Amino acid sequence: KIVVVGSINMDYVLKTEALPKLGETISAKSFTTVFGGKGANQAVAAARLGAEVIMIGAVGDDGIGVELRDNLDREGIHTEGVHSVEGASGVAMINVADNGDNTIVVYPGANANLGIDWVKQHEALIKSADCLMVQLEIPMDTVMEAVKVAAQNNVKVIFNPAPAKTFPDEIFQYVDVITPNETELMKISGKEDIIEGARELITRGANSVVVTLGEQGSMFVDQENSYKAGSFKVNAIDSTAAGDAFNAALAIKMIESDDMESALRFSNAVGALVTTKLGAQTSLPYKNELDQFLK
Ligand code: ADP
Repeated sequence: KIVVVGSINMDYVLKTEALPKLGETISAKSFTTVFGGKGANQAVAAARLGAEVIMIGAVGDDGIGVELRDNLDREGIHTEGVHSVEGASGVAMINVADNGDNTIVVYPGANANLGIDWVKQHEALIKSADCLMVQLEIPMDTVMEAVKVAAQNNVKVIFNPAPAKTFPDEIFQYVDVITPNETELMKISGKEDIIEGARELITRGANSVVVTLGEQGSMFVDQENSYKAGSFKVNAIDSTAAGDAFNAALAIKMIESDDMESALRFSNAVGALVTTKLGAQTSLPYKNELDQFLK
């Protein structure tokens, strides 16, 4: 069983020929609403791969909040830990131009109001799980509370430090694996080199580091070992949510065994599959698609 404590967003995606200039009004070529938020993405990814998933998060008391909750319900995720708070839901307004340039404005809304108290009230959900997944789109003190509860109850913890932000090193003692991508690792560690960056995090107290390397696959580093797991060759068209799915896959494998090398390989397969489809949650694979891909 996996519990996710994290963000739930609705993405509004407008495709335009070029990005609008300051003060300009332009017509879009298409408009799509896409379910997103790193927390929700990781929860949905894990559920589609067959895991039992509990979501702890917050949505607004607007119509969007109703849609966000319904979406998680449809995916078979337990939503009793999803708090409806007063005000707007989390949204992202995304403009994408023909040449691929984009501008994104995120309003955290309800996600910013996911407080420590809510996590404390739902401690039992965290304790009931085998693995907790957290990211950085909700308040830091709430993340810290969740990982503490998990660590005190022998629940494995995967910390995905995204989007890249500074955080207190205190968190490392409660975390089994931290999973930055290359950019996040550079920002957090202040090092250009991946191995050096990962080692820096170990020095600061991390137990183990898994770095996602895009089309290069991923890499594991701890006190004793470091190794790379090669990627799967695919026709990649959009890497949105590849990292989220990678993390979900890692959680599933870490519950099954301590074999991190095979966990990385499995997670690389899931990440690769995501890049073959457009969008965030729209591109997250189901278990049967993955089985087909691995054949
Ligand atoms: P993020 O989406 O957080 O930036 P990455 O781009 O590193 O994370 O992607 C996560 C994982 O997805 C990678 O570790 C890799 O396994 C897989 N992946 C991403 N892009 C590709 C690609 N072009 N080809 C094959 N696998 C990929």
